Amino acid sequence: LVPAEADPSRGIELVGVRHAYGERTVLDGIDLRLTEHRVGVIGSNGSGKSTFARLLNGLVVPTAGRVLVDGLDTRDAVREVRRRVGFVFQDPDAQIVHPTVAEDVAYGLENQQVAPAERAERVAEILDRYGLAGHADHPAHLLSGGQKQLLAIAGVLVMRPARVVFDEPTTLLDLVNARRIARVIAELPQAVVAVSHDLDLLDDFDRVLVMDAGRVVEDGPAEQSVRAYRKLMADR
Ligand code: ADP
Repeated sequence: LVPAEADPSRGIELVGVRHAYGERTVLDGIDLRLTEHRVGVIGSNGSGKSTFARLLNGLVVPTAGRVLVDGLDTRDAVREVRRRVGFVFQDPDAQIVHPTVAEDVAYGLENQQVAPAERAERVAEILDRYGLAGHADHPAHLLSGGQKQLLAIAGVLVMRPARVVFDEPTTLLDLVNARRIARVIAELPQAVVAVSHDLDLLDDFDRVLVMDAGRVVEDGPAEQSVRAYRKLMADR
């Protein structure tokens, strides 16, 4: 059941967010509202990008401040938030948990208690869309790296989230597969937030955030942010 206060026009809001792991503050002073179709996040290793991404679907709850998805606080409404915001990890092996390709994709739908007939239909449709139909009964671990990333994406999309967060979706892939995944992401009807070092992936993004030492130091169109990021790195 959708809580009465859910309002998709609000997007994802981060209000006075700070996050610490133990004593160590890794995000500080984050105030943002994300409503664009495509938002990218770049920054050096350890700048807080992955923690930022995890805040957006409640995988991480901020130490201070609030994260709201369509007005729902990730602290109180984590189940509803996760239905609205899918998350694709950098390493598909972290996301693939079931013995066969089809079972792996069906898992989230079982959790949502989608009836078996509809489940089978949605799984078949999504495997077909990502060129995995011929592998439905194969062990997932035998897929190539690119196919595994497609499987991880299929497993999220089959749940029909309104938005998808990607954490370095192409980092572990070769160039051909990285391009293929970039194309898949570009064609998604869903709103996307993508953390990436692969600047090609973010080329057409509406908005790109540059993170440094736990803060957002630039926030603008892709070209402007990439330029600022290059300058930041050159000045080091
Ligand atoms: P990025 O994605 O930009 O590399 P992260 O958000 O992964 O940044 O990490 C930011 C900082 O937080 C790093 O110094 C990292 O070591 C630390 N960190 C990340 N996850 C954890 C964790 N689960 N426990 C403790 N420290 C963490």
